[in-house]
Amino acid sequence: MAEMLLGRPVADAIKEDLAKRVSALAERGVKPRLAVIRLGEDAGDMAYERSIFRNCEKLGCEARSIALPVDIAQEALIAEIEKVNTDASIHGCLLLRPLPKHLDSVAVCDALVPEKDLDGMGQRALGSLFAGRKDAFAPCTAQACLEILKYYGVDPAGRRAAVVGRSLVIGRPAAQLLLQANATVTCCHSRTPDLASVCREADILIAAVGRAGLIGAEHTRPGQVILDVGVNSVGGKLCGDVRTEEAAEIAAAVSPVPGGVGAVTPSVLMAHLVEAAEKNA
Ligand code: NAP
Repeated sequence: MAEMLLGRPVADAIKEDLAKRVSALAERGVKPRLAVIRLGEDAGDMAYERSIFRNCEKLGCEARSIALPVDIAQEALIAEIEKVNTDASIHGCLLLRPLPKHLDSVAVCDALVPEKDLDGMGQRALGSLFAGRKDAFAPCTAQACLEILKYYGVDPAGRRAAVVGRSLVIGRPAAQLLLQANATVTCCHSRTPDLASVCREADILIAAVGRAGLIGAEHTRPGQVILDVGVNSVGGKLCGDVRTEEAAEIAAAVSPVPGGVGAVTPSVLMAHLVEAAEKNA
């Protein structure tokens, strides 16, 4: 049976390190402050915002909600983001996505300055990531995948990796981070022929699709490490992209859903906030 790559211990280790850095900042009179921009009152967004606020409070950081109407005009939203850009008391910002369809999400994401773009959503942050520079933040979930590998002692260097999904939120940045960690990476998508055999060749497999149970025994081989990023709801129950029990019969390690990658992402966000405050101080 595969090892379960639980997110909780990874998140705890990140937070332990951050607690020391937040204390050091406090000695210099600096308290990291996050702004969360939320459009509308979607229950999922509000729950996520509350959990971020709890994380901030526990770490000794501050968080402020900028709650805006779901039908806000593009110019008005960009004006709010520009206020965040120029507010020296705010070290970093998270814009809850996906944005409503009437907004041009590229233009909106690009309005945030990269120094405050904690989830690496703007083109300048992504450009930095893809150019291999370390002067902006990577998307938190993509980095959470690498944090899990690091915590559990899986070094991507010299390994074959397959990432299923090529969005700019998770698939492509995760592939890029694996490449930077010296893995040989294949980025798969909906047009990849014979996905199962491409996945089976990988030592590290990341599923970031959003299709419940897409990945199963046929995509898996002995010794493989599988990270399941997918968040799907089937009959009101949360599940990932991987048929976990089936894959766990074959692979060496699998991250569960819930309790895997999703449990690490908020700690990576906190790490980015603290780093932004350190750079600013
Ligand atoms: P997305 O923008 O819809 O992208 C999905 C990707 O999967 C696309 O690249 C698509 O290919 C590919 N795909 C779709 N069907 C496929 C198939 N049958 N075979 C191979 N590839 C296929 O979704 P996303 O924003 O990247 O999110 C992916 C999942 O991660 C979702 O479940 C989301 O909820 C989850 N997520 C989790 C966290 C977390 O913290 N745990 C954070 C963010 C997202 P094409 O490009 O060809 O269309």
